[in-house]
Amino acid sequence: MTDPRKDWHRDTIAVRLAEDKSQFGENSEALFLTSSFVQPDAATAARRFAGEEEGYIYSRFTNPTVTSMEKRLAALEGAQACIGTSSGMAAIVLMCMGLLKAGDHVVCSRSVFGSTIKLLAGEFGKFGVQSSFVSQTDVAEWKAAIQPNTRLLFAETPTNPLTEVCDIRALADVAHAAGALLAVDNCFCSPALSQPIALGADLVIHSGTKYLDGQGRVVAGAICGPKDLIEGKFVPVMRSAGMSLSPFNAWVVLKGMETLGIRMRAQSDNALALATWLEAQPQVARVYYPGLKSHPQHALALQQQSGLGGAVLSFELQGADPQQARARAFHVIDHTQVCSITANLGDTKTTITHPATTSHGRLTEEQRQAAGISQGLVRVAVGLEHIGDLQADLARGLHSLA
Ligand SMILES: *Cc1c(COP(=O)(O)O)cnc(C)c1O
Repeated sequence: MTDPRKDWHRDTIAVRLAEDKSQFGENSEALFLTSSFVQPDAATAARRFAGEEEGYIYSRFTNPTVTSMEKRLAALEGAQACIGTSSGMAAIVLMCMGLLKAGDHVVCSRSVFGSTIKLLAGEFGKFGVQSSFVSQTDVAEWKAAIQPNTRLLFAETPTNPLTEVCDIRALADVAHAAGALLAVDNCFCSPALSQPIALGADLVIHSGTKYLDGQGRVVAGAICGPKDLIEGKFVPVMRSAGMSLSPFNAWVVLKGMETLGIRMRAQSDNALALATWLEAQPQVARVYYPGLKSHPQHALALQQQSGLGGAVLSFELQGADPQQARARAFHVIDHTQVCSITANLGDTKTTITHPATTSHGRLTEEQRQAAGISQGLVRVAVGLEHIGDLQADLARGLHSLA
């Protein structure tokens, strides 16, 4: 019998696909808050522990609610399999532990999430894995950084906070020509906008904390990819290392994914309207948003992201000097009444932050300048509030600047 689910649209998968229902026939997905599972007899327990028979054993290994989240996310990403993790960073740790050994080399965009750079350069550096950091957008730099021991290319698109877009297909070609894998952190687009595996990526990393949950309630993560890597490389590491996803958090993410498509489209529409309005304000020097024609990778972004720009934008306030630019950015942020002042993103509640003193505050001034994070830069992760209220919220500060 063919599985009718293979023809489902992403919006249907997001609502319907899960692990089999329990004997009670519940309509909603059940939450299995249990650390272990009772075995029918000793011989079955032995077969399950040996991996000769399927069956739940212990929630560090896996749990039916976690399995439901994994099945739904794998289907949304067009991946064969998925493994849930306790956070987005735990997913990256698990991927690196599963794929890499001392002496291996990674090529990574210089503009990825700050903790990812710290993890690769710092923690995995200590274990003898070397990483080279290259331009987000210049494919030739990725190619030039390849070494005989390169095992993994790692990208994230669009980047935070400057929304630079990389060409996933081109990077997949570079990786495969070198016999390496391409992993893409798909946190900002989510599978509602972009499916990196269809563009040639081997693995997709998620922070479920962001758009998958979508309402800023839990920390969660996942890796999606081919069955042989998930089951052969990552499941064994998970079983001994234990960066497991809590069933409760999996259940929250599972529920969040039901509205993923509708949220991503509505939040992208809100972000485009806000970016367009910001670009017309004389107090704003520059707006960074892939949905704007002024964005350097506008065409690539639309092609790779289902015609949408995503929900994160940044804008720059100029000043006579960096101190004045920072004071202006603080003025705009502090005059908001709707936006939450927090560095988180992916929430239905709009968040506003000053990257130079928060997410990128630990960099030196030279590193910040190299990364393009000026003191006048403000990032907005646009939520689901009415666009008129969001515009008024930013206009209050912008229109009262000295
Ligand atoms: C937040 C984030 C992460 C880390 O996810 P956690 O769930 O906070 O561990 C990784 N990558 C990107 C792009 C993120 O925004």
